[in-house]
Amino acid sequence: LPQHPALAPAALAQRFAAETQRFSASHPRSMALAEQAAQHFLFGVPLHWMRDWPSPASLCVQQAQGAQLLCADGLAYSDFCLGDTGAMFGHSPAPVAQAIAQQASRGLTSMLPSTLTAEVGQLLAATFGLPQWQMALTASDANRFLLRWARAVTQRPQLLVFDGCYHGAVDDTLVDLVDGQTVARPSILGQVHNHAAFTRIVPFNDLAALEAALADRQVACLLAEPALTNCGLVLPDPGFWAAAQALCQRYGTLLALDETHTLSTGCGGYARVHGLAPDLLVIGKAVAGGLPCAVYGFSDALAQRMRDAKQAAPEGHSGIGTTLAGNALTLAALHAALTHLHTPATYAPMLALADALAHGLRERITAHGLDWSLTQLGARMELHCAAQPPRNADDVRRSSQPALEALLHLFMLNRGVLLTPFHSMLLVSPATTAANVQKLLDGLDAFLAV
Ligand code: PMP
Repeated sequence: LPQHPALAPAALAQRFAAETQRFSASHPRSMALAEQAAQHFLFGVPLHWMRDWPSPASLCVQQAQGAQLLCADGLAYSDFCLGDTGAMFGHSPAPVAQAIAQQASRGLTSMLPSTLTAEVGQLLAATFGLPQWQMALTASDANRFLLRWARAVTQRPQLLVFDGCYHGAVDDTLVDLVDGQTVARPSILGQVHNHAAFTRIVPFNDLAALEAALADRQVACLLAEPALTNCGLVLPDPGFWAAAQALCQRYGTLLALDETHTLSTGCGGYARVHGLAPDLLVIGKAVAGGLPCAVYGFSDALAQRMRDAKQAAPEGHSGIGTTLAGNALTLAALHAALTHLHTPATYAPMLALADALAHGLRERITAHGLDWSLTQLGARMELHCAAQPPRNADDVRRSSQPALEALLHLFMLNRGVLLTPFHSMLLVSPATTAANVQKLLDGLDAFLAV
């Protein structure tokens, strides 16, 4: 970074202290609720990640609607975090809210298919382009289950992932690439198994490393996001996926694309928009409009191998599935989401507004002479503190500026704008308005004005 006066290291700590005070003073109710909740919730929150914000207490949410969120202190926020993608179609989209309300008094879960099942299957196939499907409650679960299937049908032990990946709380994938070796991610708590023995890892955008990892035909599955979205937003080089897909086919490795975040690309997700032919697809978070739901799809050929593997196995637990998966309430929400949200008409305004936001951000980078860059994948974009956009996780690690990013998040929170914690990701929903975008850009102008 150039020594922009607002961003000089000495200024950051001082500014952070001032913003912390400002938050405490303007959020008395959130502060008090956090203290009460801490009596019975570890870290004061129902999910400990909810404390991974730079504010002195988590914002307590009173209500969320569209792209607007209201906190316990009655302050309004333009939400560009959108539940880290769970609310990508806006909070409580009307058709989904209606479907949930209708189903709510007709049975929530029965461990049986509902009368909507067949139609949901048709909609999934039409929307995402793969003919066969299974449901889970979270993307983490869907990824765990597809790994079991992949290893079962190929009878190969190894999984391959990209450095910087995140596929949820799936032990096999929580690894880093260090000096060419797979190592268990040091931050993982309670790790006892040596997942490094069964997981290979290569840098993103490196076809030679990919081929070297596949060549001994021991890899059951390459599990990947089409673009890294959990380690900055790292886009694939032109032609990368066509070549990577061909390598998987050459070595008999299944290609599983986790589209949980890349659903932002366009209707149907990245693979659909770019004409890729993965063997498996995973979509979680926003797929049912924000109700806990994930789906995984696969080809007919793979479905036959799955049936064969199941038939060949002894009776008993398969290690695949959970009791509430595919429940009636989720199915109703998914049906409404597939009918009304996963449509070109819903995506068009979202993508257009995202382009306008990206344009505004680039203008600010130029106007302030910042050594920053922006990457964009449809409705999702990410600011990087480096002039060159990253090509892999190492680039992201080298350019990361945690103190600056924490300050930016807290500053924007205090100006009524929510950015995704953990990184500088911005997501636009169909409910996001030009006024929401302007509020963010004004906030950034104020952040950089000294
Ligand atoms: N896959 C990807 C690409 C993700 O980004 C995430 C969560 N950030 C997951 C899977 C896991 O989703 P969940 O936490 O809902 O299980």
